[in-house]
Amino acid sequence: MNNKPYKRVLLKLSGEALMGSDNFGINRTTLSYITTEIVKVFNLGIEIAIVIGGGNIFRGVAPGAQGMDRATADYMGMMATIMNALALQDALKCIGINARVQSALNIDQVVEPYIRPKALRYLEEGKIVIFAAGTGNPFFTTDTAAALRGAEMGVEIVLKATKVDGIYNSDPKKDPLAVLYSSISFDEVMLRRIEVMDATAFALCRDQKLPIKVFSIYKTDAFRRVVNGENEGTLVHI
Ligand code: UDP
Repeated sequence: MNNKPYKRVLLKLSGEALMGSDNFGINRTTLSYITTEIVKVFNLGIEIAIVIGGGNIFRGVAPGAQGMDRATADYMGMMATIMNALALQDALKCIGINARVQSALNIDQVVEPYIRPKALRYLEEGKIVIFAAGTGNPFFTTDTAAALRGAEMGVEIVLKATKVDGIYNSDPKKDPLAVLYSSISFDEVMLRRIEVMDATAFALCRDQKLPIKVFSIYKTDAFRRVVNGENEGTLVHI
């Protein structure tokens, strides 16, 4: 179940993954580390689609958005994801990797719009595609965008990169005896009320029979091991 190499994957990177140890924004050293991890997978000939979050810059539900109209705050959050996508594209370009950004919100002067057949063609051409602006709708998250674009791109798996190396039976920060699941079913995740993704994203993956792998992007080589089907992180399966 856990040991086949994948051909096309979707990587969900939270905005916080770009922050490193900073309190907000984009940390150059962390960004360059992440691109190195991505290149290892790219060099295996695996097609990579990326959905990037915006939590390091702005979140519709953040304290900074308090008192704001939620939809307006969410549009700001989506714009934050565009900034991250451009930073990631630029960092990949610096090391010679061709990546395209497609945005669910139209800002024609800056970034091309999301066009599904074009995105599919880029992937087939061996370009990394970075999807920005989430789903383009307020009241959603970039986790949902990851499930949505993952299904649209026909990826084999959604890889949720986090700071933790997988799903545990209890909080590993508080419980030294916490045990890491190497795999767990969608039903069991629901039964145990484990938060893997928000409910909309999770339901979409389950309906589409799209497995999710949770792993730590901060663990060197973990991304490559995951796409190689090696025993890394936690697989959420049907
Ligand atoms: N957002 C949105 N619709 C989407 C995706 C994102 O409104 O489809 C907004 C929302 O305000 C969210 C912010 O963009 O809080 C940043 O996305 P997210 O919180 O998912 O980023 P992450 O936590 O992955 O960094």
